[in-house]
Amino acid sequence: MRIGVLALQGAFREHIQALARLGVEGREVRTVKDLADVQALILPGGESTTIGMLMEEYGLIDAIRESELPLFGTCAGMIVLARDILGSSQPRLGLMDMAVDRNHYGRQRESFETEIEVTGLPDGVRGVFIRAPVVTRTGPGVEILARHQGEVVLCQEGRCLAAAFHPELTADTRLHRMFLDRFVTKAPSHHR
Ligand code: GLN
Repeated sequence: MRIGVLALQGAFREHIQALARLGVEGREVRTVKDLADVQALILPGGESTTIGMLMEEYGLIDAIRESELPLFGTCAGMIVLARDILGSSQPRLGLMDMAVDRNHYGRQRESFETEIEVTGLPDGVRGVFIRAPVVTRTGPGVEILARHQGEVVLCQEGRCLAAAFHPELTADTRLHRMFLDRFVTKAPSHHR
């Protein structure tokens, strides 16, 4: 199994390291051609406007939409997956029927860490929020997996999983494991 990590901008190396901790090969993806070598794609945190613009420039928006790759977006990656981005017309994949509010915690609390209860995981995960978005609307097909102070911060729809926080910045690999187990069928069971 080889998992792609979109490597145009942002925290892509940290995702590759998280995959390595699970014994899974991560591969940097920069071009449409790179998509052919991976079984899923992680969209990292960073700056969603820059990531979206570069994806558009390299033809990756159409190629990823047309692919059937399972997708895991974290922070900026969540924004790129959303159909609606409040107050912005920036390029996006728009594959999840939801609206996001960028930099939601902005003025009060730019960055913070907090315990997040995740549906399906016995213990909470440490949520690292950095200029994080929240989901402000979810369509009927979106399953909410975690909230923070009432706001949706982890959800899934179809082949997409999206987190407002950064699991790749902690030593805890359970969300990456969950993505592989639930979305990428050939996940090796001995790593569970
Ligand atoms: N605020 C950033 C954006 O709008 C996301 C921040 C992050 O990915 N850590 O793209």
